Amino acid sequence: MKRAQAHGPDRLLADKDFGENVSEIKQLTEKVLAFRDERDWKQFHNSKDLALSLVLEATEVLEIFQWKQDQAAIDGVALERKQDLADELADVFCYTLLMANDLGIDLAEALKTKIEKNNAKYPVDKAKGSDKKYTEL
Ligand SMILES: [Mg+2]
Repeated sequence: MKRAQAHGPDRLLADKDFGENVSEIKQLTEKVLAFRDERDWKQFHNSKDLALSLVLEATEVLEIFQWKQDQAAIDGVALERKQDLADELADVFCYTLLMANDLGIDLAEALKTKIEKNNAKYPVDKAKGSDKKYTEL
């Protein structure tokens, strides 16, 4: 099926973009695997511990915003600690790449499929500008 010309946020769905990103995801996965293999850490990476580590790193993202009460404080810490946020997001991404690799999941394909599922769950005509869950649209 040929895709319509993509604009705005929908441009992320263009097959061309996914093709380029697949290659980049593979390259990044190879770097992460090389880092792990050099240290002989695969022996510690069962699926449960990779999932645990992924969530722990995600909480480190959240920790940066802990105790910030208003929007100005939230925006301020995001700006002041941008490098810390980048590091923690990279940690989450690292465990995501490792888990996908070890489980034989094509992450680019999984993301593409998930976006298509979300498009079906959240049609633009119902979801645009709404914070409701798809079950409440
Ligand atoms: Mg971390």
